[in-house]
Amino acid sequence: MNKLETLEHYFGHAAFRPFQEEVVDAILKREDVLMILPTGGGKSLCYQLPTLLMEGITVVVSPLLALMHDQVVALKANGIPAAMLSSMQDLEESQQIEQELRAGKIKLLYVAPERLTNAYFLNMLHQLPINFFVIDEAHCVSEWGHEFRENYRRLSLLKEQFATTPIAAFTATATRAVEEDIAANLGLEEPMRVRGSLFRENLTISARHRIKDGRSQLIEFLKNHQGESGIIYTLSRKSTEAVAHYLQEKGVEAQAYHAGLPIEQKNKTYADFVSDKVQIVVATIAFGMGIDKSNIRFVVHMTMPKTLENFYQEIGRAGRDGLEAETLLLFSAQDIVQQKMFIEDLPETPYKEHAFNKLDAMVRFANSENCRHQLIAAYFDDRMEACKDKCDNCTAPESEKVDITTAARMLLSTMLRTEQNFGLHYVIDVLKGSKEQRVLQNGHDTLSVYGIGDEYSKNQWLTIGDKLLELGAVEIGEFKVYKLTNYGAEVIKGVHTIDLKKERLTVQKAEAKKRVTYFNDYDVEVYDKLRELRTQIASQKGIPPYIVFSDKTLKDLSVKLPRNKEDMLEVHGIGEVKFERYGKVFLEILNA
Ligand code: ADP
Repeated sequence: MNKLETLEHYFGHAAFRPFQEEVVDAILKREDVLMILPTGGGKSLCYQLPTLLMEGITVVVSPLLALMHDQVVALKANGIPAAMLSSMQDLEESQQIEQELRAGKIKLLYVAPERLTNAYFLNMLHQLPINFFVIDEAHCVSEWGHEFRENYRRLSLLKEQFATTPIAAFTATATRAVEEDIAANLGLEEPMRVRGSLFRENLTISARHRIKDGRSQLIEFLKNHQGESGIIYTLSRKSTEAVAHYLQEKGVEAQAYHAGLPIEQKNKTYADFVSDKVQIVVATIAFGMGIDKSNIRFVVHMTMPKTLENFYQEIGRAGRDGLEAETLLLFSAQDIVQQKMFIEDLPETPYKEHAFNKLDAMVRFANSENCRHQLIAAYFDDRMEACKDKCDNCTAPESEKVDITTAARMLLSTMLRTEQNFGLHYVIDVLKGSKEQRVLQNGHDTLSVYGIGDEYSKNQWLTIGDKLLELGAVEIGEFKVYKLTNYGAEVIKGVHTIDLKKERLTVQKAEAKKRVTYFNDYDVEVYDKLRELRTQIASQKGIPPYIVFSDKTLKDLSVKLPRNKEDMLEVHGIGEVKFERYGKVFLEILNA
């Protein structure tokens, strides 16, 4: 059989999709391959098909048991002999698979990465005719990626031990940095590189500030998707159940799915969803990875994901059949605080620092009014024109925009005049003529730009700063210092005009008293009051302030604004004992 006959016979497809044939050919020529193609692009076929045209066995490394299992089942259903080896199997089963491998009865063998550090297994591989290795979800190799896995790092041993065996690496999401890391870590030799466009033209992407718990926004959204299949992502197990319950009460048929449910229930929900018996699943992000359901018509995020990579993967599960699909992201400043806390609890590694930067990028994306598709492409170092009609920002009417060119130039000039040595807050302080000691000490009250920024509130200036960051007019250096890019220099010269969605300034204004922007996600006024109280208590008792409450606790208090004991116990660092000691006085302030 030739390529096309194999495509038709085993996979039932009449033609290759973009990039597939090139990769198949490279593999048949025994070249290394590095393929970056969005979810649903058809990566699996790129290694499964050439395997069928080769004599030996192809070894596929994949991070998730469930994914491997689904693949093996699907392959077998297409009459392709495949198996997986995992720690879940008993000795008898693995011996059986070993026999079949030796007898040439298996074409594709799926394994978890840790298996490749097992001496017995490696020894066996050396005795088998291996065509090539496949590294699925290859971004897990990289600390720059969003799902670094220690045992993926060890895959470098493949080229050491099997110097002449080609490797084909696949991922849906990789920035240039991640791409280089994959190539270097796996020791790929001048791999054939394929980078598909990230633009999913059948996806309409929207993002909105969440109003309260977002449920009324969700119901509004679902009105346009009656009877359609979709996934709703929430952050916690508890909230999947709460939202599913809420929808059921509203007459919308939905099931919850999370890792804590009994296995039979999970399997049933999954199977019912795939077979269209259940239309909507409310899930944590554990759900949907590698799901082979092509008619998912919508994906909703009730809270902000921690990275754009995650977001892109998750929305990518919609519309794999190429038909129109819609995605909605609901987010609030609280999500950001929450995500930051998760990251703060991580051990100190380079990964942690990346995690903060990735979160910042996610927040900028959510707040931006540039083309969403363009923003995603730019994040992955790809360029494209604005989509025009496939995102909320491109379809927003012109009348909703204001010209902020003058303000942008003021802000950029102030950065220049303060020698690009300060963070955004400081620069804004100078613009607004702050009497802060630091400003006075630096003599910045003598600058011509000092105090010329009265027209906007501090929060509005922060928004303008965000906008400049989104446009790439500024970049953040070490210690959060803002620096101009070439584009920023052009803005000062008046080469570009800059628009902002009106709503962003007014929302900020209306909420200014309450707080909100991601540089400053807690209520600063409340925070200052709480800090005063803390200082008072500390000096009365003769103890350091942080023994009373940590800064993190104060920040969390000024985000959650608890009004009673029950809510207060939800705050970071406050247990019964702390509440007994200080709860009451802090509540008095909060209630005032
Ligand atoms: P990825 O791994 O890139 O996310 P998959 O390999 O799971 O994508 O493929 C996504 C879907 O596209 C699958 O349902 C698959 O059957 C289908 N597909 C892959 N290649 C082709 C093709 N050449 N023609 C039609 N459909 C294809």
